[in-house]
Amino acid sequence: MNHILVINAGSSSIKYQLIDPTSGERSAAGLVERIGEAEGRIVHRGVREEERAVVVPDHGAAFDELVAAFARQGAPIEGLGITAVGHRVVQGGEEFVAPTLIDDAVAERILELGALAPLHNPGQYQAIVAARALFPRVPHVAVFDTAFHQTMPPSAYTYAIDPEVAAEHGVRRYGFHGISHQVVSRRAAEFLGRPLESLRQIVLHLGNGASACAVDRGRSVDTSMGLTPLEGLVMGTRSGDIDPGALLHLLRGGYDVGGLDRLLNGRSGLLGFTGSNDFRDVRAAADAGDSQAALAIEVAVHRIRHYLGAYLVELGGLDALIFTAGVGEHQAELRAAVCADLEGFGIRIDPERNASPERGARRIGAEGSPVEILVVPTDEEAEIARETLRLVG
Ligand code: AMP
Repeated sequence: MNHILVINAGSSSIKYQLIDPTSGERSAAGLVERIGEAEGRIVHRGVREEERAVVVPDHGAAFDELVAAFARQGAPIEGLGITAVGHRVVQGGEEFVAPTLIDDAVAERILELGALAPLHNPGQYQAIVAARALFPRVPHVAVFDTAFHQTMPPSAYTYAIDPEVAAEHGVRRYGFHGISHQVVSRRAAEFLGRPLESLRQIVLHLGNGASACAVDRGRSVDTSMGLTPLEGLVMGTRSGDIDPGALLHLLRGGYDVGGLDRLLNGRSGLLGFTGSNDFRDVRAAADAGDSQAALAIEVAVHRIRHYLGAYLVELGGLDALIFTAGVGEHQAELRAAVCADLEGFGIRIDPERNASPERGARRIGAEGSPVEILVVPTDEEAEIARETLRLVG
């Protein structure tokens, strides 16, 4: 047996999977969530499925809980033939442009880059430290959310502020969701049976976090998230784009930095409009006549189309438009709204294909639509395993 352990640590959770890199089969998976809260929870699917309440003050403790879950089921993780560990890391800055073998220096750099991603890198660092202590002799690989976007040209990643200030504080656009945009754009090309190097694609990753990416022949040339994952599309709890002047206005009006952070990252987006960050609730409320819920969807669609138009022009045309992640994969009405009245740009959706409950990669464009329109499920864990294997051989 040989397995890759994939650790996907979020701001307050750790998702993990044990993947056979040759077959792609997952022999165990789970989630430790509500890290840092009074009561957390682990859901583990190994020999059997179990769910239990746990208290996990930090990501190191969360890692210990997942190790304990394997042991409880009589399949200690140390005996499962793990040959490499792949870690998702959100912020790789300008220096990590590809998956990287983790040594002490790389781990420390990941921690330092936490200055640019305070919600993510510190917890990911803790998970790395815990995993390296448990598996000191297997290679650990960091796979970065930002790396895919390091091919953006300066015109796309530079903010028009004093360059000295920007350089001193690392203020530029990095982009996120890169692991997802990479796997989805490659799988779209495979699905179409066309070389990735021949395609101009726009990938819409629409989940609780959301971003758009312009992929020119396999390379990211623009993306909607920026210095942080707050810029761009309307998200579950995040505002996306907002005039920076509005922040100054709110600061002058009595908000402090913490209050602004909580407002824009935690109490905006769909949640701000409706009280729920789950798109299903928002849709149900809109269908029941809630005007704020209807407006939330209209604003979200307007924003997506804004980026769609921008990237169409940047790419100088479009071969494939791809929907992915929870909302992108499951919300047919939203996909229809995004594609409405774009026949003049070669984007023609097929209502029946779009409404089909089919899962997996599929075509939803009309027969003869000049732009292919696809739904391609994202699979960040499989991509992390693939990149890990590619690096360690
Ligand atoms: P993600 O962050 O990719 O897990 O996506 C979460 C979002 O996807 C939430 O807003 C959900 O409402 C939405 N979503 C997930 N599954 C479904 C589904 N089966 N039908 C409709 N929406 C879904």
